[in-house]
Amino acid sequence: MKKLKVILYFPPESTDKPFTYHLVKDFDIVFNILQAEVQPGKRGRLTMELQGSEKNIEEALEFAKSHGIGYRPFNKNIVRNQGECMDCGACTAVCPSGALYMDKKSWELIFDESKCLLCELCIKACPVKAIDVNMFV
Ligand code: SF4
Ligand code: SF4
Repeated sequence: MKKLKVILYFPPESTDKPFTYHLVKDFDIVFNILQAEVQPGKRGRLTMELQGSEKNIEEALEFAKSHGIGYRPFNKNIVRNQGECMDCGACTAVCPSGALYMDKKSWELIFDESKCLLCELCIKACPVKAIDVNMFV
């Protein structure tokens, strides 16, 4: 059995879908909601602790992703080294969720962590290795 704390980010069209029902019924996951900010028709955020087999947790998170629900496990995040970044924009071209984008006025890179899907595509795309994944317990 594995326990994982994760933040789930719901787009407006998904906040009224029965995601937690599927966690139990389809993936046999026991969950504990640690924090909830969900309103119908608006972007929502659920902080949960999931308990289940490693395979079932992985499949449940894939299920979430396939329904447009982003997630961020507590043991991993994407970090950008602002000192190394030269705001070239290369990472924005591969970012599937719009978490990385250029500020239209300053042309500086913006990172909206709440939209990050942790796909790590930006790490490979950065020519100066200014993006990395940070693992923590
Ligand atoms: S990990 Fe993926 S979703 Fe997150 S910022 Fe990088 S490319 Fe975008
Ligand atoms: S690809 Fe690297 S250097 Fe270019 S904007 Fe993204 S983080 Fe900055």
